[in-house]
Amino acid sequence: MYGVTAGIAYRRQLAEICRRFRVPLRTVAIIPQELVARGITVLALDFDGVLAPHGAAAPLPEVLAWLKSCALVLGEERIFILSNRPDPLRADYFRREFPGIGFIAGVRKKPYPDGLLRIMELSGAAPKELLLLDDRLFTGVLATCLAGTGVAYITAPYISLTSRPVMEGFFMLLRLAERRFIALSDLLP
Ligand SMILES: [Mg+2]
Repeated sequence: MYGVTAGIAYRRQLAEICRRFRVPLRTVAIIPQELVARGITVLALDFDGVLAPHGAAAPLPEVLAWLKSCALVLGEERIFILSNRPDPLRADYFRREFPGIGFIAGVRKKPYPDGLLRIMELSGAAPKELLLLDDRLFTGVLATCLAGTGVAYITAPYISLTSRPVMEGFFMLLRLAERRFIALSDLLP
């Protein structure tokens, strides 16, 4: 419910972000060196859709290679996982494979800005130095509006219709619905 009321309050900003990310964006198309050139020093990464399809325990192989290059450029300790499903299997995975990457848990879920604020506190980064990669308008993207951080709206998320058809179908509809909702509400005075 908070997502809807805050989403309406921030509809102009969300509509602007939708226009800015009109071309489908995939996670691995983001080049860490370009982020650094733009003044980004900290990455916050959503998990579902951004690192892997919904419900996966670990990032996809192509994302792993990308994550390693981000870690080389920024440093592992400048990367954080901020998922609304901070499940222990995923936390274990990162502790084992990327011990420097922070795994945020125990905060109110996005769109509350709490996770992003926690990351700024842990890293000492200013809002403009922090970039969240997220595939959901009314959760992650909205949280960046509330926290004043940068956002990369992943409009070509990872989806596996063969392994989780119902769940993925539901999230495909949800992503479409939230974009339509913002496009329509932006037309209102
Ligand atoms: Mg997601």
